[in-house]
Amino acid sequence: MSKTLHIIGGGMAGSEAAWQAARMGVSVVIHEMRPRVETFAHRTGDLAEMVCSNSFRSDDDEQNAVGLLHWEMRAADGLIMQTADRHRLPAGGALAVDRDLFARDVTQTLRNHPLITIQHDEITELPADGHWIIATGPLTSQGLGQAIAHETGADALAFFDAIAPIVYADSIDMSKAWMQSRYDKGETEEERTAYLNCPMDRATYDAFIDALLAADKTEFHEGETAGYFDGCLPIEVMAERGRETLRHGPMKPVGLTNPHQPDVKPHAVVQLRRDNALGTLFNIVGFQTKMKYGAQTEVFRMIPGLENASFARLGGIHRNTFLNSPTLLDDQMRLRSRPHIRFAGQITGVEGYVESAAMGLLAGRLAAAEMLGHPLPSPPQDSAMGALIHHITGGAEAKTFQPMNVNFGLFRPVDGLKGGRRGRSDRYKAYTDRAKAAWQDWLQLQNMSCAS
Ligand SMILES: Cc1cc2nc3c(=O)[nH]c(=O)nc-3n(C[C@H](O)[C@H](O)[C@H](O)COP(=O)(O)OP(=O)(O)OC[C@H]3O[C@@H](n4cnc5c(N)ncnc54)[C@H](O)[C@@H]3O)c2cc1C
Repeated sequence: MSKTLHIIGGGMAGSEAAWQAARMGVSVVIHEMRPRVETFAHRTGDLAEMVCSNSFRSDDDEQNAVGLLHWEMRAADGLIMQTADRHRLPAGGALAVDRDLFARDVTQTLRNHPLITIQHDEITELPADGHWIIATGPLTSQGLGQAIAHETGADALAFFDAIAPIVYADSIDMSKAWMQSRYDKGETEEERTAYLNCPMDRATYDAFIDALLAADKTEFHEGETAGYFDGCLPIEVMAERGRETLRHGPMKPVGLTNPHQPDVKPHAVVQLRRDNALGTLFNIVGFQTKMKYGAQTEVFRMIPGLENASFARLGGIHRNTFLNSPTLLDDQMRLRSRPHIRFAGQITGVEGYVESAAMGLLAGRLAAAEMLGHPLPSPPQDSAMGALIHHITGGAEAKTFQPMNVNFGLFRPVDGLKGGRRGRSDRYKAYTDRAKAAWQDWLQLQNMSCAS
């Protein structure tokens, strides 16, 4: 039997899995269908392409569960994190990157690795033998999707996801917009001015909501009953939930002062975040949408400062497929019915770049350890990695299983800590301290088994 690990899909999870397995000494072939076969959201043939936001979210490893996952991935020499750190852009407490430089760097690093081969081919069947990881993501191609559905016997679950538009910086009217991070957050001047803000008065906001509600939207014809992922709701859906919803969500006007009119409090503010190191592109934060292209340009040009905006990419909506992992995968991420196949990334029912890369890291290590004859236990539940994998492969209720972001609700409670605000901060610190110790123990375990 071949001792090569084959990974289908070179996205966040597949790239990280390949890196982890190769650094343990295992030969890897990555099968990535792009650029030969395209998806609706990717634009390049690069590996680890970020399809929407350019942010890996909070980098706070003491008070935030995503920041904790960053920490655990860095401790495990994670490729996605170390590359993100090299291409970091100012974004307050978030880890945002130049998406093009980031993806190019990941691709180059993997291409240069002596144990890694990249083949640009689409896999459409489930492999009969060998060692495989399927990390084909939310946009898994149709042929493979059908093969997986056939094997698992379960209806593929789905929800809808939407992406936000990107605007050319030089088309934004800076006599109306200004640069400022909310509450001037950040340690450097660059961080304190990481966001571009467009103010709205009440009349403009009302007209904007009316236009959103009336705009032409993409309709589905698949008899869909799937819902939206709550963290990624299209703005029109938010507006339908109430006229004030956006003002309390992505358009909240707090922590910002308009230098063009310092005495006038904006009724709402649209924020844009730098999308590349050059500062030539900005994405509209939280503005994922299912409006048709014509409607998008019309409605978004109602935003003060964006009257003449040119769009590098408009928003869009897509179907997102994932497995019912609690019933289909074991705690090693293996398909119960065909244990030579592991799954990793968003298709396992985690949500987000970071969580997907994290599951790639685990799948790569677990697969390589097994191939080397030193199988590893699943990571401890007290670590962020362990909390996530435990949730998707057993902890979650299978009947109502939905994709999950990492969060402290997935962690076992820490005893003896009081409630309240101070209590919450102490509790999060206790979670993160405990998680870091548990994760380091698990990493150590691997060093010991490899040395034995
Ligand atoms: C439109 C959209 C918007 C999103 N917005 C965000 C966001 O703003 N923030 C966020 O954190 N997450 C976002 N996500 C989720 C994000 O895509 C995932 O979290 C992350 O990229 C998933 O990583 P992955 O490795 O599982 O899949 P991907 O990164 O998508 O990688 C899967 C790879 O597999 C390849 N592939 C698919 N089928 C085959 C096949 N049969 N053979 C060979 N190769 C194949 C694809 O080309 C792709 O390169 C979004 C997803 C989509 C689709």
